[in-house]
Amino acid sequence: MTQLIDKIAIPTFVINKDRVITHWNKALTQLTGLTCDEMIGTRNQWRPFYTTSRPTMADLILEGNHSQTVDQFYRNKCRPCDVLEGAYAAEDFFPEMGDEGEWLSFTASPVQDESGVIIGAIETLVNVSDRKKAELELIRSEQLYRELSITDELTKLYNTRFFIQEIEREIKRCERHNHDLSVCMFDLDLFKPVNDSYGHVFGDKVLEGFGGLIKRHLRTTDSAFRYGGEEFVILMPFTPDGSVAAERIRTSLEKAVFCTDNHEEVKVTCSAGIARYVSGDDDKSLLKRADTALYQSKEEGRNRITVCKKQTVPW
Ligand code: GH3
Ligand code: MG
Ligand code: MG
Repeated sequence: MTQLIDKIAIPTFVINKDRVITHWNKALTQLTGLTCDEMIGTRNQWRPFYTTSRPTMADLILEGNHSQTVDQFYRNKCRPCDVLEGAYAAEDFFPEMGDEGEWLSFTASPVQDESGVIIGAIETLVNVSDRKKAELELIRSEQLYRELSITDELTKLYNTRFFIQEIEREIKRCERHNHDLSVCMFDLDLFKPVNDSYGHVFGDKVLEGFGGLIKRHLRTTDSAFRYGGEEFVILMPFTPDGSVAAERIRTSLEKAVFCTDNHEEVKVTCSAGIARYVSGDDDKSLLKRADTALYQSKEEGRNRITVCKKQTVPW
């Protein structure tokens, strides 16, 4: 039996019904660094995997009522094994193993005598760290790709494509749950002259700074988007009146100073228009009202916020 188990390339150990190790194969020695001489005859099967004594899955298998005990120690990580009755399989991270922890995929199954009485348990363990790392890397790069695909590179706010998606989603939520939604549209004041006087690169620096400023003032439920060149939109769910939040952004831009490479100090202001969702709105009608309010802010002298008073859908 020992010879046979040693021939298995999968790290394996066996315990008897007193939880004493009877077999500890060579592959497991390779995985854990602990030899069969050190391990056989002891109850130290936990040692390579945990810092303090606790049952391994093989130990739990020996107890009656497996599903409860196994679940208690390997919550949400284990499942009954499809190929062997009474066996369990799990995958977990073992922070104490190796230099930076290892992921192991392991199974435990009961060993019965001829009459079906459980006389021990066998556990196999496979190091799946490389696969796990590759999986996590894939998830991370998918996340990064998704973030990049919805982010405006210059301002680090969300881009227009994502805005179209999000405003439609928010409007649907309003329709379904009768939520409030305010839309605030910002446009930098007299930005063309800023570009003309100090150059496009400086203009970009202002846009980047304004993006950061918006982010800093954003409430957790709001989301901000770059909507074209120097226009920005903030979606404010659950907000019947977005003017307080918008005013904070307007005043903080008013106070900000942008320095050119020649150490000139430039001040920039913004105007905004706010509209509140009314039943029957679609993205176009809602944006149109915000845009009209923005236009009014420009007309009335810029560096101000106008809340659309008209609360009916224009068509
Ligand atoms: P108003 O107060 O009426 O908005 O005046 P304005 O000069 O800002 O007029 P408008 O909004 O029509 O002008 C937009 C200008 O923004 C035109 C363009 O020079 C500048 N702009 C648009 N996109 C970018 C960009 O990505 N980078 C830079 N540097 N400038 C941009
Ligand atoms: Mg504009
Ligand atoms: Mg402008």
